[in-house]
Amino acid sequence: MGVSRRRLLQVGAGLGVAAAIPVGQHVAWGMRDFERDGYTPDYPDAPAGEEAWINWSGAQRATPMQLASPQSETDLAEFIRSTPYRIRPRGSGHSFTGLVPSEGVILDVSYLSGLQAYDPETGIATFGAGTTLFQTAAKLQELGRAFPNLPDIVDQTLAGSFSTGTHGTGETLTALHDYIHAFRLVTASGDVIEVSRTSNPDLFAAGKVSLGALGVITSYSVQTIPAFNLRRIVKAEPIDLVLEELEARAAAHRNFEMFYLPSTGVAATLSHDLYEGDVTGVQPSEDDETLEGLKTLRDQFGWWPWLRRKIASSALPSGVLEDVSDASMELLATTRPIKFNEMEFHLPKSEGIAALRKVIAKMDARKDAFFPMEIRLIAPDDAWLSPFNDGPKMSIAIHAAVDERFDYFFSDFEPIFRAHGGRPHWGKWHSLKRDDFAQLYPRFEDFISLRRDLDPDGKFLNPHLAELFGEPFNA
Ligand SMILES: Cc1cc2nc3c(=O)[nH]c(=O)nc-3n(C[C@H](O)[C@H](O)[C@H](O)COP(=O)(O)OP(=O)(O)OC[C@H]3O[C@@H](n4cnc5c(N)ncnc54)[C@H](O)[C@@H]3O)c2cc1C
Repeated sequence: MGVSRRRLLQVGAGLGVAAAIPVGQHVAWGMRDFERDGYTPDYPDAPAGEEAWINWSGAQRATPMQLASPQSETDLAEFIRSTPYRIRPRGSGHSFTGLVPSEGVILDVSYLSGLQAYDPETGIATFGAGTTLFQTAAKLQELGRAFPNLPDIVDQTLAGSFSTGTHGTGETLTALHDYIHAFRLVTASGDVIEVSRTSNPDLFAAGKVSLGALGVITSYSVQTIPAFNLRRIVKAEPIDLVLEELEARAAAHRNFEMFYLPSTGVAATLSHDLYEGDVTGVQPSEDDETLEGLKTLRDQFGWWPWLRRKIASSALPSGVLEDVSDASMELLATTRPIKFNEMEFHLPKSEGIAALRKVIAKMDARKDAFFPMEIRLIAPDDAWLSPFNDGPKMSIAIHAAVDERFDYFFSDFEPIFRAHGGRPHWGKWHSLKRDDFAQLYPRFEDFISLRRDLDPDGKFLNPHLAELFGEPFNA
Protein backbone atom coordinates (compact mmCIF):
# COMPACT_ATOMS: atom_id res chain seq x y z
CA MET A 1 0.00 0.00 0.00
CA GLY A 2 2.29 2.89 0.92
CA VAL A 3 0.22 5.08 3.22
CA SER A 4 2.86 5.55 5.79
CA ARG A 5 5.26 8.36 5.39
CA ARG A 6 7.19 9.61 8.36
CA ARG A 7 4.69 12.08 9.72
CA LEU A 8 1.83 9.62 9.61
CA LEU A 9 3.61 7.87 12.46
CA GLN A 10 2.17 10.49 14.77
CA VAL A 11 -0.80 8.17 14.92
CA GLY A 12 1.23 6.01 17.29
CA ALA A 13 1.83 8.91 19.72
CA GLY A 14 -1.81 10.00 19.51
CA LEU A 15 -2.98 6.53 20.31
CA GLY A 16 -0.71 6.31 23.29
CA VAL A 17 -2.49 9.28 24.86
CA ALA A 18 -5.92 8.10 23.79
CA ALA A 19 -5.36 4.63 25.16
CA ALA A 20 -5.03 6.14 28.63
CA ILE A 21 -8.69 7.21 28.57
CA PRO A 22 -10.36 4.94 31.15
CA VAL A 23 -13.19 3.24 29.31
CA GLY A 24 -14.19 0.02 31.05
CA GLN A 25 -15.65 -1.78 28.08
CA HIS A 26 -12.31 -1.54 26.26
CA VAL A 27 -11.51 -4.82 27.85
CA ALA A 28 -14.37 -6.71 26.24
CA TRP A 29 -13.59 -5.41 22.75
CA GLY A 30 -9.82 -5.68 23.31
CA MET A 31 -10.20 -9.36 24.28
CA ARG A 32 -11.97 -10.06 21.00
CA ASP A 33 -10.18 -12.52 18.83
CA PHE A 34 -9.99 -11.35 15.21
CA GLU A 35 -8.01 -14.39 14.05
CA ARG A 36 -9.14 -16.47 11.13
CA ASP A 37 -9.82 -20.14 11.89
CA GLY A 38 -7.26 -22.48 10.44
CA TYR A 39 -4.69 -19.83 9.53
CA THR A 40 -1.06 -20.93 9.66
CA PRO A 41 2.01 -19.48 7.96
CA ASP A 42 3.62 -22.93 7.93
CA TYR A 43 4.24 -25.01 4.83
CA PRO A 44 1.88 -27.97 4.47
CA ASP A 45 3.15 -31.40 5.55
CA ALA A 46 4.12 -33.16 2.34
CA PRO A 47 3.77 -36.95 2.18
CA ALA A 48 7.05 -38.83 1.64
CA GLY A 49 8.41 -38.23 -1.85
CA GLU A 50 6.35 -35.07 -2.39
CA GLU A 51 7.21 -31.39 -2.03
CA ALA A 52 5.55 -28.49 -0.22
CA TRP A 53 4.64 -25.04 -1.60
CA ILE A 54 2.78 -21.99 -0.27
CA ASN A 55 2.11 -18.57 -1.73
CA TRP A 56 3.15 -15.20 -0.23
CA SER A 57 0.03 -14.86 1.91
CA GLY A 58 0.02 -18.53 2.97
CA ALA A 59 -3.59 -19.03 1.87
CA GLN A 60 -2.66 -21.08 -1.22
CA ARG A 61 -0.79 -24.30 -0.55
CA ALA A 62 0.08 -27.51 -2.37
CA THR A 63 2.09 -30.72 -2.06
CA PRO A 64 3.19 -31.37 -5.66
CA MET A 65 5.01 -34.48 -6.81
CA GLN A 66 7.81 -32.24 -8.02
CA LEU A 67 9.10 -28.67 -7.84
CA ALA A 68 10.95 -28.36 -11.15
CA SER A 69 13.50 -25.67 -12.09
CA PRO A 70 14.75 -26.28 -15.64
CA GLN A 71 18.02 -24.51 -16.41
CA SER A 72 17.39 -23.65 -20.07
CA GLU A 73 14.55 -23.32 -22.55
CA THR A 74 15.64 -26.59 -24.16
CA ASP A 75 15.52 -28.44 -20.82
CA LEU A 76 12.15 -26.89 -20.06
CA ALA A 77 10.67 -27.98 -23.40
CA GLU A 78 12.00 -31.53 -22.90
CA PHE A 79 10.62 -31.61 -19.36
CA ILE A 80 7.14 -30.52 -20.48
CA ARG A 81 7.19 -33.10 -23.29
CA SER A 82 8.16 -35.97 -21.00
CA THR A 83 6.57 -35.41 -17.57
CA PRO A 84 3.48 -37.53 -16.87
CA TYR A 85 2.16 -34.90 -14.44
CA ARG A 86 0.07 -31.79 -14.85
CA ILE A 87 2.13 -28.59 -14.62
CA ARG A 88 1.58 -25.15 -13.16
CA PRO A 89 4.22 -22.48 -13.80
CA ARG A 90 4.92 -20.19 -10.86
CA GLY A 91 6.54 -16.79 -10.47
CA SER A 92 7.23 -15.31 -7.03
CA GLY A 93 3.98 -16.73 -5.60
CA HIS A 94 2.42 -13.31 -4.96
CA SER A 95 -1.02 -14.16 -6.37
CA PHE A 96 -3.77 -14.63 -3.80
CA THR A 97 -5.95 -16.80 -6.05
CA GLY A 98 -5.36 -20.50 -6.76
CA LEU A 99 -3.52 -19.97 -10.06
CA VAL A 100 -0.35 -21.83 -9.09
CA PRO A 101 -1.19 -24.79 -6.77
CA SER A 102 -0.67 -28.17 -8.42
CA GLU A 103 -0.48 -31.70 -7.09
CA GLY A 104 1.59 -32.62 -10.17
CA VAL A 105 4.46 -30.24 -10.96
CA ILE A 106 5.03 -26.64 -9.90
CA LEU A 107 7.49 -25.24 -12.39
CA ASP A 108 9.81 -22.35 -11.64
CA VAL A 109 11.59 -20.43 -14.43
CA SER A 110 13.92 -18.43 -12.22
CA TYR A 111 16.96 -19.88 -14.03
CA LEU A 112 15.58 -18.16 -17.13
CA SER A 113 16.23 -14.65 -15.91
CA GLY A 114 18.33 -11.60 -16.69
CA LEU A 115 18.86 -9.40 -19.75
CA GLN A 116 19.30 -11.38 -22.97
CA ALA A 117 19.36 -8.60 -25.57
CA TYR A 118 18.92 -4.84 -25.91
CA ASP A 119 18.46 -2.72 -29.02
CA PRO A 120 19.35 0.94 -28.33
CA GLU A 121 17.70 1.99 -31.61
CA THR A 122 14.22 0.82 -30.59
CA GLY A 123 14.57 0.59 -26.79
CA ILE A 124 13.33 -3.01 -26.97
CA ALA A 125 14.95 -5.25 -24.32
CA THR A 126 14.64 -9.02 -23.99
CA PHE A 127 14.58 -10.59 -20.52
CA GLY A 128 14.17 -14.13 -19.21
CA ALA A 129 10.56 -14.58 -18.05
CA GLY A 130 11.69 -15.34 -14.48
CA THR A 131 13.40 -11.96 -14.06
CA THR A 132 11.83 -10.03 -11.21
CA LEU A 133 10.48 -6.52 -11.73
CA PHE A 134 13.19 -5.23 -9.41
CA GLN A 135 15.95 -6.93 -11.43
CA THR A 136 14.37 -5.65 -14.65
CA ALA A 137 14.03 -2.06 -13.42
CA ALA A 138 17.61 -2.05 -12.03
CA LYS A 139 19.06 -3.40 -15.28
CA LEU A 140 17.05 -0.91 -17.35
CA GLN A 141 18.27 1.92 -15.15
CA GLU A 142 21.87 0.89 -15.91
CA LEU A 143 20.97 1.18 -19.60
CA GLY A 144 19.37 4.60 -19.08
CA ARG A 145 15.92 3.07 -19.68
CA ALA A 146 12.80 2.33 -17.62
CA PHE A 147 9.30 0.88 -17.66
CA PRO A 148 6.71 3.69 -17.87
CA ASN A 149 5.09 2.43 -14.66
CA LEU A 150 5.46 -0.09 -11.83
CA PRO A 151 3.07 -1.73 -9.36
CA ASP A 152 3.24 -1.27 -5.55
CA ILE A 153 6.05 -3.79 -5.14
CA VAL A 154 8.69 -5.23 -7.48
CA ASP A 155 9.17 -8.77 -6.11
CA GLN A 156 7.00 -10.31 -8.83
CA THR A 157 8.48 -11.93 -11.95
CA LEU A 158 7.84 -10.53 -15.42
CA ALA A 159 5.85 -13.66 -16.32
CA GLY A 160 3.78 -13.54 -13.12
CA SER A 161 3.06 -9.80 -13.43
CA PHE A 162 2.14 -9.84 -17.10
CA SER A 163 0.09 -13.04 -16.85
CA THR A 164 -2.35 -11.58 -14.29
CA GLY A 165 -2.68 -8.02 -15.63
CA THR A 166 -0.56 -6.43 -12.89
CA HIS A 167 -0.77 -2.63 -12.98
CA GLY A 168 0.33 0.58 -11.26
CA THR A 169 -1.62 3.84 -11.28
CA GLY A 170 -1.97 6.73 -13.72
CA GLU A 171 -4.93 7.42 -15.93
CA THR A 172 -2.82 7.71 -19.08
CA LEU A 173 -0.65 4.68 -18.18
CA THR A 174 -1.48 1.11 -19.19
CA ALA A 175 -0.91 -2.07 -17.17
CA LEU A 176 2.50 -3.72 -17.46
CA HIS A 177 1.60 -6.42 -20.03
CA ASP A 178 1.05 -3.62 -22.56
CA TYR A 179 4.85 -3.19 -22.75
CA ILE A 180 5.22 -6.68 -24.28
CA HIS A 181 6.59 -6.62 -27.82
CA ALA A 182 7.10 -10.38 -28.24
CA PHE A 183 7.45 -13.55 -26.15
CA ARG A 184 8.52 -17.18 -26.45
CA LEU A 185 6.00 -19.81 -25.37
CA VAL A 186 6.61 -23.53 -24.71
CA THR A 187 3.35 -25.38 -25.36
CA ALA A 188 1.99 -28.62 -23.86
CA SER A 189 3.59 -30.60 -26.71
CA GLY A 190 7.00 -29.11 -25.91
CA ASP A 191 7.03 -26.91 -29.04
CA VAL A 192 8.54 -23.44 -28.77
CA ILE A 193 6.62 -20.62 -30.47
CA GLU A 194 7.98 -17.11 -31.05
CA VAL A 195 4.95 -14.85 -30.66
CA SER A 196 4.56 -11.21 -31.71
CA ARG A 197 1.76 -8.97 -32.90
CA THR A 198 2.76 -9.64 -36.52
CA SER A 199 3.81 -13.32 -36.35
CA ASN A 200 0.72 -14.56 -34.49
CA PRO A 201 -1.76 -11.78 -33.64
CA ASP A 202 -4.34 -13.94 -31.82
CA LEU A 203 -1.82 -15.79 -29.68
CA PHE A 204 -0.13 -12.44 -28.95
CA ALA A 205 -3.38 -10.85 -27.75
CA ALA A 206 -4.28 -13.97 -25.73
CA GLY A 207 -0.80 -14.63 -24.34
CA LYS A 208 -0.05 -11.24 -22.84
CA VAL A 209 -2.46 -11.98 -19.96
CA SER A 210 -2.69 -15.77 -20.00
CA LEU A 211 -2.80 -16.90 -16.32
CA GLY A 212 -0.13 -19.41 -17.30
CA ALA A 213 -2.89 -21.41 -19.01
CA LEU A 214 -1.50 -21.49 -22.56
CA GLY A 215 1.95 -22.87 -21.73
CA VAL A 216 5.18 -21.70 -20.14
CA ILE A 217 6.69 -18.41 -21.30
CA THR A 218 10.48 -18.37 -21.31
CA SER A 219 11.33 -14.81 -22.38
CA TYR A 220 9.76 -11.45 -23.12
CA SER A 221 10.87 -8.62 -25.40
CA VAL A 222 9.55 -5.42 -23.86
CA GLN A 223 9.31 -1.83 -25.09
CA THR A 224 11.15 0.50 -22.71
CA ILE A 225 11.34 4.31 -22.50
CA PRO A 226 14.19 6.64 -21.48
CA ALA A 227 14.84 6.67 -17.71
CA PHE A 228 13.05 9.51 -15.86
CA ASN A 229 12.84 11.08 -12.41
CA LEU A 230 9.67 11.78 -10.48
CA ARG A 231 8.58 14.09 -7.70
CA ARG A 232 6.24 12.58 -5.13
CA ILE A 233 3.87 14.51 -2.88
CA VAL A 234 1.96 12.67 -0.16
CA LYS A 235 -0.85 14.41 1.69
CA ALA A 236 -3.26 13.42 4.46
CA GLU A 237 -6.67 14.93 3.72
CA PRO A 238 -10.35 14.56 4.61
CA ILE A 239 -11.87 11.77 2.54
CA ASP A 240 -14.88 13.89 1.54
CA LEU A 241 -12.63 16.48 -0.08
CA VAL A 242 -10.62 13.84 -1.93
CA LEU A 243 -13.76 12.16 -3.25
CA GLU A 244 -14.98 15.52 -4.58
CA GLU A 245 -11.68 16.19 -6.35
CA LEU A 246 -10.51 12.69 -7.22
CA GLU A 247 -11.25 12.79 -10.94
CA ALA A 248 -9.67 16.23 -11.41
CA ARG A 249 -6.58 15.22 -9.45
CA ALA A 250 -6.20 11.97 -11.37
CA ALA A 251 -6.27 14.02 -14.58
CA ALA A 252 -3.76 16.56 -13.24
CA HIS A 253 -0.99 14.14 -12.25
CA ARG A 254 1.06 11.53 -14.12
CA ASN A 255 0.43 9.00 -11.35
CA PHE A 256 -2.27 9.55 -8.76
CA GLU A 257 -3.56 7.17 -6.11
CA MET A 258 -5.47 7.36 -2.88
CA PHE A 259 -5.53 5.27 0.28
CA TYR A 260 -8.47 5.45 2.64
CA LEU A 261 -7.89 4.56 6.30
CA PRO A 262 -11.12 2.83 7.40
CA SER A 263 -13.20 4.49 10.12
CA THR A 264 -10.96 7.54 10.30
CA GLY A 265 -12.39 9.88 7.65
CA VAL A 266 -8.78 10.38 6.52
CA ALA A 267 -7.26 9.67 3.11
CA ALA A 268 -3.62 9.67 2.09
CA THR A 269 -3.10 10.85 -1.48
CA LEU A 270 0.04 10.19 -3.51
CA SER A 271 0.90 12.03 -6.71
CA HIS A 272 3.95 11.52 -8.91
CA ASP A 273 4.95 13.92 -11.67
CA LEU A 274 7.92 14.12 -14.03
CA TYR A 275 10.79 15.97 -12.39
CA GLU A 276 14.01 17.51 -13.67
CA GLY A 277 16.82 18.83 -11.50
CA ASP A 278 18.64 17.58 -8.42
CA VAL A 279 16.74 14.88 -6.56
CA THR A 280 16.21 14.69 -2.81
CA GLY A 281 16.33 10.88 -2.65
CA VAL A 282 13.81 8.93 -0.61
CA GLN A 283 13.77 7.32 2.85
CA PRO A 284 12.64 3.72 3.21
CA SER A 285 8.90 3.45 3.80
CA GLU A 286 7.58 2.65 7.28
CA ASP A 287 4.22 1.19 6.39
CA ASP A 288 4.47 -1.45 9.08
CA GLU A 289 4.47 1.09 11.92
CA THR A 290 1.47 2.98 10.52
CA LEU A 291 -0.42 -0.28 10.09
CA GLU A 292 0.36 -1.20 13.68
CA GLY A 293 -1.08 2.18 14.71
CA LEU A 294 -4.26 1.61 12.73
CA LYS A 295 -4.56 -1.89 14.18
CA THR A 296 -4.16 -0.54 17.71
CA LEU A 297 -6.87 2.02 16.98
CA ARG A 298 -9.16 -0.81 15.86
CA ASP A 299 -8.22 -3.07 18.78
CA GLN A 300 -8.77 -0.33 21.36
CA PHE A 301 -11.66 1.66 19.99
CA GLY A 302 -13.30 -0.40 17.27
CA TRP A 303 -16.47 -0.79 19.27
CA TRP A 304 -16.97 2.99 19.48
CA PRO A 305 -16.92 4.25 15.86
CA TRP A 306 -17.41 7.90 16.91
CA LEU A 307 -14.54 7.75 19.40
CA ARG A 308 -12.31 5.90 16.95
CA ARG A 309 -12.93 8.59 14.33
CA LYS A 310 -12.36 11.38 16.83
CA ILE A 311 -9.07 9.92 18.03
CA ALA A 312 -7.96 9.28 14.47
CA SER A 313 -8.73 12.83 13.42
CA SER A 314 -6.64 14.25 16.25
CA ALA A 315 -3.85 11.66 16.04
CA LEU A 316 -3.41 11.69 12.27
CA PRO A 317 -1.67 14.70 10.76
CA SER A 318 -3.08 16.66 7.84
CA GLY A 319 -1.47 18.41 4.90
CA VAL A 320 1.75 17.52 3.12
CA LEU A 321 3.49 14.50 4.66
CA GLU A 322 6.22 14.00 2.11
CA ASP A 323 7.70 15.91 -0.83
CA VAL A 324 10.58 13.99 -2.43
CA SER A 325 12.15 13.30 -5.82
CA ASP A 326 14.13 10.37 -7.20
CA ALA A 327 14.46 7.88 -10.08
CA SER A 328 11.10 6.38 -11.08
CA MET A 329 11.96 2.89 -9.81
CA GLU A 330 12.81 4.29 -6.37
CA LEU A 331 9.45 6.05 -5.98
CA LEU A 332 6.83 3.99 -7.78
CA ALA A 333 7.28 0.78 -5.78
CA THR A 334 7.94 0.10 -2.09
CA THR A 335 7.96 -2.97 0.17
CA ARG A 336 5.10 -4.67 2.01
CA PRO A 337 6.53 -6.20 5.19
CA ILE A 338 3.09 -6.86 6.73
CA LYS A 339 1.15 -9.60 4.98
CA PHE A 340 -2.51 -9.38 4.02
CA ASN A 341 -5.27 -10.84 1.86
CA GLU A 342 -6.68 -8.68 -0.91
CA MET A 343 -9.62 -8.30 -3.28
CA GLU A 344 -9.32 -5.77 -6.12
CA PHE A 345 -11.88 -4.99 -8.79
CA HIS A 346 -11.36 -2.79 -11.85
CA LEU A 347 -14.46 -0.71 -12.54
CA PRO A 348 -15.36 1.46 -15.53
CA LYS A 349 -13.97 4.87 -14.56
CA SER A 350 -17.41 6.42 -14.92
CA GLU A 351 -18.71 4.07 -12.18
CA GLY A 352 -15.73 4.45 -9.87
CA ILE A 353 -16.74 7.25 -7.52
CA ALA A 354 -20.29 5.97 -6.97
CA ALA A 355 -18.96 2.50 -6.15
CA LEU A 356 -16.20 3.90 -3.97
CA ARG A 357 -18.66 5.88 -1.83
CA LYS A 358 -20.60 2.64 -1.16
CA VAL A 359 -17.42 0.68 -0.42
CA ILE A 360 -16.19 3.33 2.04
CA ALA A 361 -19.57 3.46 3.82
CA LYS A 362 -19.61 -0.35 4.09
CA MET A 363 -16.02 -0.50 5.32
CA ASP A 364 -16.61 2.25 7.91
CA ALA A 365 -19.55 0.22 9.23
CA ARG A 366 -17.27 -2.76 9.86
CA LYS A 367 -15.81 -2.36 13.32
CA ASP A 368 -13.11 -4.96 12.65
CA ALA A 369 -11.57 -3.42 9.48
CA PHE A 370 -8.38 -1.39 9.76
CA PHE A 371 -6.28 -2.10 6.66
CA PRO A 372 -6.26 0.86 4.21
CA MET A 373 -8.05 0.50 0.89
CA GLU A 374 -6.26 1.57 -2.28
CA ILE A 375 -7.71 3.39 -5.29
CA ARG A 376 -5.87 3.60 -8.62
CA LEU A 377 -6.51 4.57 -12.26
CA ILE A 378 -5.46 2.53 -15.33
CA ALA A 379 -5.55 3.25 -19.09
CA PRO A 380 -6.97 0.72 -21.61
CA ASP A 381 -5.08 -1.87 -23.69
CA ASP A 382 -6.10 -4.68 -26.05
CA ALA A 383 -5.12 -8.05 -24.49
CA TRP A 384 -8.03 -10.52 -24.59
CA LEU A 385 -8.04 -11.15 -20.84
CA SER A 386 -6.91 -7.69 -19.80
CA PRO A 387 -9.36 -6.27 -17.24
CA PHE A 388 -8.64 -2.92 -18.90
CA ASN A 389 -9.53 -3.81 -22.49
CA ASP A 390 -12.95 -2.11 -22.55
CA GLY A 391 -12.02 1.41 -21.44
CA PRO A 392 -10.37 3.42 -18.66
CA LYS A 393 -10.68 1.91 -15.19
CA MET A 394 -10.69 2.85 -11.54
CA SER A 395 -9.43 0.05 -9.30
CA ILE A 396 -10.61 -0.38 -5.74
CA ALA A 397 -8.61 -2.75 -3.54
CA ILE A 398 -9.57 -3.87 -0.03
CA HIS A 399 -7.30 -5.72 2.38
CA ALA A 400 -7.39 -7.70 5.62
CA ALA A 401 -4.48 -8.74 7.84
CA VAL A 402 -3.21 -12.13 6.74
CA ASP A 403 -4.29 -13.93 9.92
CA GLU A 404 -7.74 -12.31 10.14
CA ARG A 405 -11.03 -13.27 8.49
CA PHE A 406 -11.80 -11.89 5.03
CA ASP A 407 -14.99 -13.80 4.15
CA TYR A 408 -16.83 -10.45 4.22
CA PHE A 409 -14.93 -9.42 1.05
CA PHE A 410 -17.25 -11.80 -0.80
CA SER A 411 -20.52 -11.08 1.02
CA ASP A 412 -20.24 -7.31 1.55
CA PHE A 413 -18.00 -5.93 -1.17
CA GLU A 414 -17.93 -8.19 -4.22
CA PRO A 415 -21.65 -7.50 -4.91
CA ILE A 416 -20.95 -3.73 -4.95
CA PHE A 417 -18.03 -4.17 -7.34
CA ARG A 418 -20.09 -6.41 -9.61
CA ALA A 419 -23.13 -4.13 -9.60
CA HIS A 420 -20.87 -1.41 -10.97
CA GLY A 421 -19.48 -3.55 -13.82
CA GLY A 422 -16.23 -4.49 -12.07
CA ARG A 423 -13.80 -7.10 -13.33
CA PRO A 424 -11.60 -8.79 -10.70
CA HIS A 425 -7.81 -8.72 -10.68
CA TRP A 426 -6.86 -12.24 -11.84
CA GLY A 427 -4.36 -12.63 -9.00
CA LYS A 428 -6.59 -11.37 -6.15
CA TRP A 429 -9.53 -12.92 -4.33
CA HIS A 430 -12.82 -13.20 -6.24
CA SER A 431 -15.52 -15.84 -6.70
CA LEU A 432 -16.30 -15.46 -10.42
CA LYS A 433 -16.61 -18.45 -12.76
CA ARG A 434 -16.73 -19.10 -16.51
CA ASP A 435 -20.26 -17.73 -17.12
CA ASP A 436 -19.41 -14.51 -15.28
CA PHE A 437 -16.23 -14.03 -17.27
CA ALA A 438 -17.94 -14.89 -20.56
CA GLN A 439 -20.30 -11.98 -19.89
CA LEU A 440 -17.53 -9.61 -18.88
CA TYR A 441 -14.97 -10.41 -21.59
CA PRO A 442 -15.97 -10.44 -25.29
CA ARG A 443 -13.00 -12.73 -26.17
CA PHE A 444 -13.28 -15.11 -23.17
CA GLU A 445 -14.70 -18.02 -25.19
CA ASP A 446 -12.05 -17.40 -27.88
CA PHE A 447 -9.40 -17.69 -25.20
CA ILE A 448 -10.90 -21.02 -24.08
CA SER A 449 -10.88 -22.38 -27.67
CA LEU A 450 -7.31 -21.28 -28.23
CA ARG A 451 -6.31 -22.86 -24.90
CA ARG A 452 -7.94 -26.17 -25.87
CA ASP A 453 -6.12 -26.18 -29.23
CA LEU A 454 -2.76 -25.62 -27.53
CA ASP A 455 -3.41 -27.92 -24.54
CA PRO A 456 -6.05 -30.52 -25.50
CA ASP A 457 -5.27 -32.79 -22.52
CA GLY A 458 -5.38 -30.04 -19.90
CA LYS A 459 -1.72 -30.36 -18.93
CA PHE A 460 -1.70 -26.76 -17.64
CA LEU A 461 -4.98 -26.97 -15.73
CA ASN A 462 -5.49 -27.09 -11.97
CA PRO A 463 -8.79 -26.95 -10.06
CA HIS A 464 -8.91 -23.14 -10.02
CA LEU A 465 -8.28 -22.77 -13.76
CA ALA A 466 -10.64 -25.64 -14.62
CA GLU A 467 -13.36 -23.76 -12.75
CA LEU A 468 -12.53 -20.44 -14.45
CA PHE A 469 -12.66 -22.05 -17.88
CA GLY A 470 -15.53 -24.45 -17.12
CA GLU A 471 -13.36 -27.47 -17.99
CA PRO A 472 -13.60 -30.93 -16.39
CA PHE A 473 -10.78 -31.74 -13.99
CA ASN A 474 -9.83 -35.15 -12.66
CA ALA A 475 -6.85 -34.96 -10.35
C1 LIG B 1 2.36 -7.51 -1.56
C2 LIG B 1 1.70 -7.56 -2.92
C3 LIG B 1 1.61 -6.40 -3.68
C4 LIG B 1 1.00 -6.43 -4.93
N1 LIG B 1 0.88 -5.26 -5.64
C5 LIG B 1 0.23 -5.26 -6.82
C6 LIG B 1 0.04 -4.06 -7.55
O1 LIG B 1 0.48 -3.00 -7.15
N2 LIG B 1 -0.64 -4.13 -8.72
C7 LIG B 1 -1.17 -5.30 -9.19
O2 LIG B 1 -1.80 -5.29 -10.24
N3 LIG B 1 -0.98 -6.46 -8.53
C8 LIG B 1 -0.30 -6.46 -7.37
N4 LIG B 1 -0.12 -7.64 -6.69
C9 LIG B 1 -0.53 -8.89 -7.33
C10 LIG B 1 0.64 -9.50 -8.11
O3 LIG B 1 1.31 -8.53 -8.89
C11 LIG B 1 0.14 -10.58 -9.07
O4 LIG B 1 -0.60 -11.54 -8.37
C12 LIG B 1 1.29 -11.24 -9.84
O5 LIG B 1 0.77 -12.22 -10.67
C13 LIG B 1 2.31 -11.91 -8.95
O6 LIG B 1 3.45 -12.27 -9.72
P1 LIG B 1 4.33 -13.52 -9.32
O7 LIG B 1 5.64 -13.42 -10.03
O8 LIG B 1 4.35 -13.68 -7.87
O9 LIG B 1 3.51 -14.69 -10.03
P2 LIG B 1 2.68 -15.90 -9.40
O10 LIG B 1 1.69 -15.37 -8.44
O11 LIG B 1 3.62 -16.93 -8.91
O12 LIG B 1 1.95 -16.41 -10.71
C14 LIG B 1 1.00 -15.59 -11.34
C15 LIG B 1 0.54 -16.22 -12.65
O13 LIG B 1 1.61 -16.20 -13.59
C16 LIG B 1 1.75 -17.49 -14.16
N5 LIG B 1 3.16 -17.68 -14.55
C17 LIG B 1 4.24 -17.53 -13.76
N6 LIG B 1 5.35 -17.81 -14.48
C18 LIG B 1 4.94 -18.13 -15.74
C19 LIG B 1 5.62 -18.49 -16.94
N7 LIG B 1 6.95 -18.57 -17.02
N8 LIG B 1 4.88 -18.73 -18.05
C20 LIG B 1 3.52 -18.65 -18.01
N9 LIG B 1 2.84 -18.30 -16.90
C21 LIG B 1 3.55 -18.04 -15.78
C22 LIG B 1 1.31 -18.43 -13.06
O14 LIG B 1 0.96 -19.70 -13.57
C23 LIG B 1 0.11 -17.68 -12.50
O15 LIG B 1 -1.02 -17.93 -13.28
C24 LIG B 1 0.49 -7.66 -5.44
C25 LIG B 1 0.58 -8.83 -4.68
C26 LIG B 1 1.19 -8.77 -3.43
C27 LIG B 1 1.28 -10.02 -2.60
